[in-house]
Amino acid sequence: MKIRIFILSALIVASACIAASAQDLLAGNYKKALIIGAHPDDPESMAYGTALRLREMGCDVVTVYLTRGEAGIPGKTHDEAAAIRTAECEKVTAMTGIRHLFLNQIDGSSEVTNERYLEVKELIERENPDLVITHWPIDSHRDHRHAALLANDAWRRTGRHFDLFYTEVMAGLQTTNFNHTHYVDITSVRQQKLDAYLVHVSQMTDGNVAKYHDTMERMRGLEWQCQWAEAFIKAIWPKVD
Ligand SMILES: [Zn+2]
Repeated sequence: MKIRIFILSALIVASACIAASAQDLLAGNYKKALIIGAHPDDPESMAYGTALRLREMGCDVVTVYLTRGEAGIPGKTHDEAAAIRTAECEKVTAMTGIRHLFLNQIDGSSEVTNERYLEVKELIERENPDLVITHWPIDSHRDHRHAALLANDAWRRTGRHFDLFYTEVMAGLQTTNFNHTHYVDITSVRQQKLDAYLVHVSQMTDGNVAKYHDTMERMRGLEWQCQWAEAFIKAIWPKVD
């Protein structure tokens, strides 16, 4: 009996280890990726290393900003902030060649409604990605949570024709309860990622790198046994929905 219990325990531990084994997101060999962030600077901070790695592999990458960051510059009106932050996004695209798109939500007042669900679904149908990366829904920022819900709904309503991954921003402060399943080694492109992120000077991005991103990406690198990494959770489709 003791031997049987031992074997059963060993099998349970082994299966748990297999289920918990982290994987490389790039193994998906994706051809078209959308990175959907709530604000200008979100796609850059959360997954731009992965975007650059994907593009090296021949993947067409597009960043999508739900808003133009209207509420993100103290002392500026919504229109003034949107103009400044739109220009920052355009500068990133000019620098990296990675195309970007805007949806017409408003920073700090984003919505999850039937119309907004349809808007994201139609965007995804038009762009036809095989990979979508967005925010993890347990996040301190309402707009980040909304972006995750809108992408998740589009994934379901389009019959999950693409792989959906969630990722983190300022882990511990904004993203929480994040138990990742996938990694990307971004060491070779980390400086390019930083250069793109630092274009968003209106967001005091230089301070954020030292305070948050260095620590987060270094920690993921330690876990994935490389210098710098980004981490992801893959959305799982149940057998019966
Ligand atoms: Zn944000």
